[in-house]
Amino acid sequence: MAEPQRIVIIGSGLAGASAAGALRERGYDKKLMLLGREAHQPYELPALSKDVLLGNADEPHRVHEPDFYETHGVDLRLGVEVTEIRPGERVVVDSDGATHSYDRLVLATGSTPRTLPVPNADLPGLRTLRTVEDSLSLRGTLTATAEVVIVGAGWIGCEVAAAARSHGADVTVVDPVDLPLRRVLGPKVGEVFRRLHADHGVHWRLGVGVEAFTPHGVRLADGSEVAGDVVVLGVGAKPNTDLAEKAGLTLAGGGVAVDAALRTSSPDICAIGDIAAHDHPRYGRRVRVEHWANAKDQGAHVAGTILGRDEPYTTVPYFFSDQYDLGMEYRGLADAEHDQLVVRGSLEARDFTAFWLREGRLQAAMNVNQWDDGVALQALVDAHAAVSPDQLRSATLSDLV
Ligand SMILES: Cc1cc2nc3c(=O)[nH]c(=O)nc-3n(C[C@H](O)[C@H](O)[C@H](O)COP(=O)(O)OP(=O)(O)OC[C@H]3O[C@@H](n4cnc5c(N)ncnc54)[C@H](O)[C@@H]3O)c2cc1C
Repeated sequence: MAEPQRIVIIGSGLAGASAAGALRERGYDKKLMLLGREAHQPYELPALSKDVLLGNADEPHRVHEPDFYETHGVDLRLGVEVTEIRPGERVVVDSDGATHSYDRLVLATGSTPRTLPVPNADLPGLRTLRTVEDSLSLRGTLTATAEVVIVGAGWIGCEVAAAARSHGADVTVVDPVDLPLRRVLGPKVGEVFRRLHADHGVHWRLGVGVEAFTPHGVRLADGSEVAGDVVVLGVGAKPNTDLAEKAGLTLAGGGVAVDAALRTSSPDICAIGDIAAHDHPRYGRRVRVEHWANAKDQGAHVAGTILGRDEPYTTVPYFFSDQYDLGMEYRGLADAEHDQLVVRGSLEARDFTAFWLREGRLQAAMNVNQWDDGVALQALVDAHAAVSPDQLRSATLSDLV
């Protein structure tokens, strides 16, 4: 296949900027354009709910050094929204009406925070967290006298709760599920997070959903009200698939359908990061991952695909979180409600590694405040290792690899 003369990337987040970097690293020296809606150079999101919100930093990490784009000949256009893709003409149209032609196109448009379909969901005071502006503006409200209601006990909700408590705010977290993070981690590990936040003074309203927002907080399905002058929604994110859909690309699995090598249904277009519903060879099904490492790694991988290497993306999901003095990493993909949980260490002391086994094979591992076994854990999860609960509880993990 002839090397493309012109590559356009839509979305200047982590996935898009990583793809641009990887293309140059692999020696691609033709035209390369990166179009992004935000006004900032590409940056990473994790600090928005951690260091920036905590007040330890005023800006998140950039994906590349400020001069990278110029020195590497990447035509970075910021504050530019792409409004249309015309696959037949191999052209994208931006909000100024300008057209940009491509031989290969990469979609990396990320996600938008969800809202709730309940009354008053359009009240101006409701906050979500996706951009540096969201984070700085939310931080400004997290004072010692603030009453903060967080809707959603997922990763973002839990991290915002931790940051809000660190500023001394009064914090209530509401979720219709009975434990935080239960869907990902199951009941026993979910309970660790419930207790962590309770120990830091968070009030939980679990097992009851929001029925409506009010000017003074939220009304719950049981009729009770939770007062708050700051209300934050952490109820998940919706992948930005509109452009792809309008262009006639196949959607599936909640995102843009891509094959094992990250190509969409249109042969010249790839999709990566939060929007990519990837036909994952390891899992034999579509997997869409909304995590930092996936955006970065798919960005690197897609460069190879575009330049003619027909290799499947086989990396297993990885993510991390920091809340108060708890740090964790999770590798793999488990069904936490059904897989067998094995714990090495102490859930009580929040010093443990959790494993999830299915039919004797390791699906996922999560180390909490334990940092010595990362390499072994990655190798065991990558290998889908056949291990016994006893081995996981007590053997030297590197010996199992
Ligand atoms: C607050 C927060 C904290 C997080 N913390 C963690 C964490 O601790 N660990 C972890 O593993 N993951 C974390 N994540 C998730 C992780 O950061 C994301 O999965 C990752 O950033 C996705 O990268 P992306 O490039 O696909 O999308 P994004 O980073 O969302 O980038 C997409 C970009 O495309 C732009 N765009 C969209 N449509 C258009 C268009 N039509 N034209 C031009 N530009 C467009 C958007 O404005 C955006 O800048 C966090 C996410 C958030 C929001």
